[in-house]
Amino acid sequence: IQVPEPVNEPVYDYAPESKEREMIKSALSELSEKQLDIPLIIGGKEVRTGKTGEVVMPHDHKHLMAIYHKAGPDEVRLAIDTALGVQKMWQSYRWEERCAIFLKAAELLSVKYRYKINAGSMLSTSKNVYQAEIDAACELIDFLRFNVYFAQQIYREQPVSSKGIWNFVQHRPLEGFVFAVTPFNFTAIAGNLPTAPAIMGNTVVWKPASSCVYNPYLFMRILEEAGLPPGVINFVPGSGASVGDICLTDPNLAGIHFTGSTAVFQKMWKIIGENIESYKSYPRIVGETGGKDFVFVHSSADPDQLVTALVRGAFEYQGQKCSAASRAYIPKSLWPQTSKKLKNEIGRIKMGATTDFRNFFNAVIDKNAFDTIKDFIDSARKSNDSEIIIGGGCDDSVGYFIEPTVILTENPVYRTMVEEIFGPVLTIYVYDDEEFEKTLELCDSSSAYGLTGAIFATDRAAVSTALAKLEHSAGNFYINDKPTGAVVGQQPFGGGRASGTNDKAGFYTNLMRWVSPRTVKESF
Ligand code: GLU
Repeated sequence: IQVPEPVNEPVYDYAPESKEREMIKSALSELSEKQLDIPLIIGGKEVRTGKTGEVVMPHDHKHLMAIYHKAGPDEVRLAIDTALGVQKMWQSYRWEERCAIFLKAAELLSVKYRYKINAGSMLSTSKNVYQAEIDAACELIDFLRFNVYFAQQIYREQPVSSKGIWNFVQHRPLEGFVFAVTPFNFTAIAGNLPTAPAIMGNTVVWKPASSCVYNPYLFMRILEEAGLPPGVINFVPGSGASVGDICLTDPNLAGIHFTGSTAVFQKMWKIIGENIESYKSYPRIVGETGGKDFVFVHSSADPDQLVTALVRGAFEYQGQKCSAASRAYIPKSLWPQTSKKLKNEIGRIKMGATTDFRNFFNAVIDKNAFDTIKDFIDSARKSNDSEIIIGGGCDDSVGYFIEPTVILTENPVYRTMVEEIFGPVLTIYVYDDEEFEKTLELCDSSSAYGLTGAIFATDRAAVSTALAKLEHSAGNFYINDKPTGAVVGQQPFGGGRASGTNDKAGFYTNLMRWVSPRTVKESF
């Protein structure tokens, strides 16, 4: 069979009076009224431990949406044993059959659960309807469909044979289980991390972020409805330490598929290093972590295009994207008009609950995030090195609201120019036009990360210089565009340096990490 090349899922615009607007509104009110009791799902069975955490709405933190049960050591071990126990069964499925399950899940998301999963995302993670649509619906659907397509390419790729010799490669799943650890900020990533290894025939223990259990649970139910056999993916929310330590030290750990903080990823890597002699095979470590993503502006840039990109790149989803623009280098000649336009544009942003569709800007995910971001803003307010030129207000009395904030600094290595904040804070450094190349070098050397970045210039030579000087500064590099919003199948996503292993989500290079090929040679 040949899987046709997928097309990206169309993005609905939810215009006022549209059918989609009505549907999402009714999904929002349905989910707001009903409190869920979210169990673990191990081997297809619901497990309730009684040790619970809460899911609240970030824009209205008194509103409880769900409680979820947390795994203890016994449940984590049960999840591992279950994943290992069903491995043979799952691998006995032909890949075409496995793929059918994920394609059906994509279809269910597209036609049956689109509004529900988007409403879940809007309420439990504070995304506006557009941010929810491009993530929880479209990108997740795209991951599923494109991964099936890429899987087919991998299985077809075969070495040459010659007279009297027959060669073939079997793309076997890994021996052991895969541990998927997923972030709060994208339902699509949460869905991709366990399913990509499963598409390639692996079985999985899945720990969603404690700040985002609701939508992963909805998706887990969709996978079940699509026919995923019990135990192939085991849904195990819980604390990072209790779930992580057991999974990471298990001799049958075959891989981790991670998106989250740099500190946690590095800790996982250390634990694996310390236990390296105990594993059956070297665990595959695939991870995407933080970023300190830049927008670099040349004096030939178009200021209107630039300002739109800065506002969208830095402030969509409150800057809580690993790819968000968080530092900008702007030439002196463009600064007066850029700063004016930026103030105007940001001044028009409406902030508030996701249920009011006029709000482009919503709350940050939780109290921890609020406190961390506020600390950065407070210290910028006190520092002689920086000036808050836009926003800076923080208020967590009802929801975790932080205004879109712009800091200006004359110190190119001021902490908000180099440290990841993961919130709506953009820091700007204004450079002398003549120092374009020198400032590019500074941009490259002043951050440990290498995830995304953008150059704005109409002068082709400047673009070329930036591409060369910033060669390893970004795994996703944008020319005259914001550094966020990679589309599956179009811009494979991921970065190097401290930002991760750059295996590119939603691309065949990622799926290759979930197979251990066996080469077979036969002589006649
Ligand atoms: N892929 C997303 C983008 O291009 C970012 C993913 C992340 O935040 O981890 O904006």
